[in-house]
Amino acid sequence: MPTKTVSKTAPPGAAPAAPVPFDLEDLEGVGTTTADKLREAGYTDLMELAVASPSDIAEAAEVGVALAQKIVNEARRRADVGGFESGTTVLERRQKLGRITTHSKALDELLGGGVETQAITEFSGEFGTGKTQLGHQIAVDVQLPPAQGGLEGEVVYIDTESTFRPERIVDMSRAAGIDPNEALNRIHVARAFNSNHQMLLVQKAQELARERPIRLVVVDSLTAHFRSEYVGRGELAPRQQMLNKHLHELLRFSDTYNASIVVTNQVSSRPDVLFGDPTRPIGGNIVAHAATYRIYLRKSKPPKRIARLIDSPNLPEGEAVFSLTGEGIRD
Ligand code: ATP
Ligand code: MG
Repeated sequence: MPTKTVSKTAPPGAAPAAPVPFDLEDLEGVGTTTADKLREAGYTDLMELAVASPSDIAEAAEVGVALAQKIVNEARRRADVGGFESGTTVLERRQKLGRITTHSKALDELLGGGVETQAITEFSGEFGTGKTQLGHQIAVDVQLPPAQGGLEGEVVYIDTESTFRPERIVDMSRAAGIDPNEALNRIHVARAFNSNHQMLLVQKAQELARERPIRLVVVDSLTAHFRSEYVGRGELAPRQQMLNKHLHELLRFSDTYNASIVVTNQVSSRPDVLFGDPTRPIGGNIVAHAATYRIYLRKSKPPKRIARLIDSPNLPEGEAVFSLTGEGIRD
């Protein structure tokens, strides 16, 4: 018997998704086998089908692209997405944007009030500039009530370099007035062993987000695996292609669940195949295109760090100074 699939109630202020009960089998051209394959691949939510690419659906359900396109179209019709929206509707959705404090007033201001939902924010910089500390801090802060700069949300933390430290979460959550054990329980950590696994974890995050109010995904580091696995000029195109896919899956997550995506990126200390400039974050224009906010970090007089906003659709470029302390990020 096919199980009834019910889109979870979207988190408060979530982007377009609304609860839409439906059976995959109700979609034209979808039999039990196809429905099972789609469910297996994680497509149980009408919204996820609606925003999926037909080629992904074709691959997941092992059907032809024409049928996949039909499935996606039908899902779009039912989920009422894919058409034009009035500027007013877009504004209304943007008014539902959530923001997460970083615990630094200056940095929050630079970001226009904190780390935004429905967007990817990239922190880049050389080693020791505070990228991982920021990932930890925001993972704590998203749990705060809105009045204190949080979203009362939970976290998916994709750790590619084994630098997640529960001890730091304990320190930071204590300082933020959150019970450390509860804080740790709300952070769902996965170690990504390679870039493929890293991409798979985004799918796993979707599954988790149907049960838990995930409002933040941290990927620390976004690029390390891609960089070490795809070496040399011949590998550049496939690397950028996979990175692009990964980023778009993250963006899709942020839209579906009105969540923030925070990614870290190293600047190459030796010339990348793309850029000779050692201060350019790797991933090149692919990351530049997908990330809504790009913050470049550099060291200053310890424990200070300087953050520079290098790319934003609606904020002026600028700089902010913050400190790395035992309690976490501070002014
Ligand atoms: P990498 O590129 O190597 O991953 P990163 O940008 O992620 O580097 P972080 O690990 O975030 O760098 O920052 C490390 C810095 O954070 C340390 O040099 C130190 O200044 C500060 N730091 C880490 N833990 C503490 C702590 N418990 N108390 C005070 N400062 C700390
Ligand atoms: Mg780090």
